[in-house]
Amino acid sequence: MDAADFIKTLIARLGRGSVLTAQSDLEAYEADLLNKYRVPALCVVKPANTEEVAATVRLAREAGLPVTPAGGRTGFAGGAVARKGARQIVISLERMRTIRTVDPVDDVIVCDAGITLAEVRQAAEAVDRYFPVSHGGEGTSQIGGMIATNAGGNNVLRYGMARAHILGLEVVLASGDVWDGLRTLRKDNSGYDLKQLFVGSEGTLGIVTAAALRVQPRPRERAAALCAVPSPQAALQLYNTVRNSAGEILSAFELLPRSGVELHLARTGTTQVPLSERHDWMVLLEVETSIPDLDLGGLLERILGDALERELIEDAVVARSLAQRDALWALREGIAEAQASSRLVIKSDTSVPVSAVADFVDRATNAVHEVLPDVVPIPFGHIGDGNIHFNIGAPPGMSAETFASHEASLSAAVCETALQLGGSISAEHGIGQLKLHALRNAKTTTELEMMRWLKNSFDPDNLMNPGKIVEADDPVLKQEAQP
Ligand SMILES: Cc1cc2nc3c(=O)[nH]c(=O)nc-3n(C[C@H](O)[C@H](O)[C@H](O)COP(=O)(O)OP(=O)(O)OC[C@H]3O[C@@H](n4cnc5c(N)ncnc54)[C@H](O)[C@@H]3O)c2cc1C
Repeated sequence: MDAADFIKTLIARLGRGSVLTAQSDLEAYEADLLNKYRVPALCVVKPANTEEVAATVRLAREAGLPVTPAGGRTGFAGGAVARKGARQIVISLERMRTIRTVDPVDDVIVCDAGITLAEVRQAAEAVDRYFPVSHGGEGTSQIGGMIATNAGGNNVLRYGMARAHILGLEVVLASGDVWDGLRTLRKDNSGYDLKQLFVGSEGTLGIVTAAALRVQPRPRERAAALCAVPSPQAALQLYNTVRNSAGEILSAFELLPRSGVELHLARTGTTQVPLSERHDWMVLLEVETSIPDLDLGGLLERILGDALERELIEDAVVARSLAQRDALWALREGIAEAQASSRLVIKSDTSVPVSAVADFVDRATNAVHEVLPDVVPIPFGHIGDGNIHFNIGAPPGMSAETFASHEASLSAAVCETALQLGGSISAEHGIGQLKLHALRNAKTTTELEMMRWLKNSFDPDNLMNPGKIVEADDPVLKQEAQP
């Protein structure tokens, strides 16, 4: 079957409206969020249900055509765009948005993979429960994408990454068979944990079509505070202090550099930082509990008062209302949003042991300045998880094109610094096509071989999102590792 026959047969099976072929319809699916990767697609398929996903994969297999699953396309690693040179079939799950069951006794939501993360959070709230994965892209990113990237976000500190919330999955395999693994058990040690193999696999092992998600008791009390700290080292000390005093109720601890806040203020032109003076480093922290009527605001005031006396912080404001709390988070998320689609900012997503975060910020700052002296470091994010996004702003006046020519060496400098400190080149955004070479530099031959075995077992013909993470017959693995 050639490509034309494939499209004809697919339209006959799924209907005209489910298979897009007009260039004007394809464009949006051919590029990533940052417009860094742009690859023509043969067609975009929008199945209505799991069986239609399976039928598409079976037909694609017959035609020998690779498929790329697409969620909300908010990923930062170019995973939902075909690799260069391949005319791929994009399978978008955007029409698969049903919440199948919500069970507040078992504390489980079973849903289609195309529903957004924000909608799942709302569905949990509607039955007085809480789905804790949360980040700036949640209004658009889908549950399938969350699972395929093992998304992290702002509450990993307390609740863990996406992986921790998956009880079961339904997956269309490379053969076109459907694996119904939608179990909702808390304890199941009956052999290998197959669902976890698909978490973080970025569409390279199968297409997630539904998930059983574990929900938590809804937090009833929350308190957030913005603190000015003299340095990342002091932020780390503050983290230990709050952790020792608030224990497991500490749910977020985020680093905000002045350079990032400035980007947000410039973009919105409205929001003021609610601290009396200008500070180079700030921390946004939050505590939450599902026990009602606990005075968490008072608790934070006591902890931060003590920290002020010990000169760990220079100033602090505790949010006293929901609106004040939301304004603090808008500041934090605004830093990510201001950079999300900017071509004058190079994104980064490394992790190091929490104890090494301040050292990492210092060393990475020196490393990128050695590559290009006037770049603007924007190290922000999940300091409590050791996951600082060490983003890099272009030197003032430099064009996006010139800046892009330095990207490989600047990114390599950040990754190398993280590795020297025992860290990872990808904390929560995945590998996609962005970090293929970095992965090969970071992993041992044994690790890369084990990944290839897995890929070979699940997708021997390399039709599931090829060119991402690792390939069955891996051409990149054979090349010299490059920056
Ligand atoms: C402003 C902003 C802030 C963000 N903050 C964070 C953050 O704090 N933490 C974080 O982890 N991420 C963050 N992200 C990144 C992003 O939102 C996550 O990576 C998200 O989980 C991707 O979901 P998606 O549906 O958009 O996936 P896509 O981008 O569409 O796809 C990502 C990968 O998953 C694969 N995939 C998608 N759907 C499926 C499926 N059903 N089955 C199999 N494979 C599939 C794709 O092929 C691709 O490889 C942020 C993004 C934005 C825009």
